[in-house]
Amino acid sequence: MNARVALQLSGVDRHYSQGDTFLSILKGADFTLRAGETVALVAPSGTGKSTLLHIAGLLERPDAGEVLINGRSCGTMNDEARTAVRRSDIGFVYQFHHLLPEFTALENIMMPQLIAGLGKSEAKERAAALLDYMRIGHRAEHRPSELSGGEQQRVAIARAVANAPLVLLADEPTGNLDPETAGYVFEALKALVRQSGLAAMIATHNHQLASLMDRRVTIEDGKVVEQA
Ligand code: ADP
Ligand code: MG
Repeated sequence: MNARVALQLSGVDRHYSQGDTFLSILKGADFTLRAGETVALVAPSGTGKSTLLHIAGLLERPDAGEVLINGRSCGTMNDEARTAVRRSDIGFVYQFHHLLPEFTALENIMMPQLIAGLGKSEAKERAAALLDYMRIGHRAEHRPSELSGGEQQRVAIARAVANAPLVLLADEPTGNLDPETAGYVFEALKALVRQSGLAAMIATHNHQLASLMDRRVTIEDGKVVEQA
């Protein structure tokens, strides 16, 4: 497959110091994600999945190495420029939805679009279309507390892709859901990737769901390793 490279990590190092102990989490990690590709990141707790996703999503800086989004090197950018790339090119989904509790599902999905400068009616139209696409159009006017866990995560995914990013990063997005609901959420996510040509990297502990992705990778000794 020779689709455009959406995300590239090269030689990424990340360590943490805790008191006297020095934790080397990522050690020269390399990873390439192409447009239209879905990759599952399956590795035991504590191996650095969240760290890798945060670095790829420009939420954290690596101690060494390079992060390229759509061919642009983000390592030497200042925080303002990184925020701009993050807003335009990256969608992030957390294990817990992080939706704004005082706003409806529709408004939560409109928010990033309004921040990006889109008009209110356009933002609303796209938010409604995304909710329909995730099959929760009938929940548009509900607040997060009035939604089930699976519905909350589908709203969170819709919000993450509201500005049509190039890369979707999801950190155990179905970790708190029952298997059936997790299946729905994964299906919705995959369909979205197929339809939009997005590239997605999804950390999960669920091997069955991982098997639905195009590729599987793990983290071994601080490096990203391809799996069968
Ligand atoms: P995973 O998502 O695979 O469970 P993480 O990326 O969250 O792993 O963490 C990898 C390791 O780095 C863990 O041992 C964790 O305790 C440690 N770690 C993560 N963030 C910090 C931090 N801010 N300070 C110190 N140690 C951290
Ligand atoms: Mg984690």
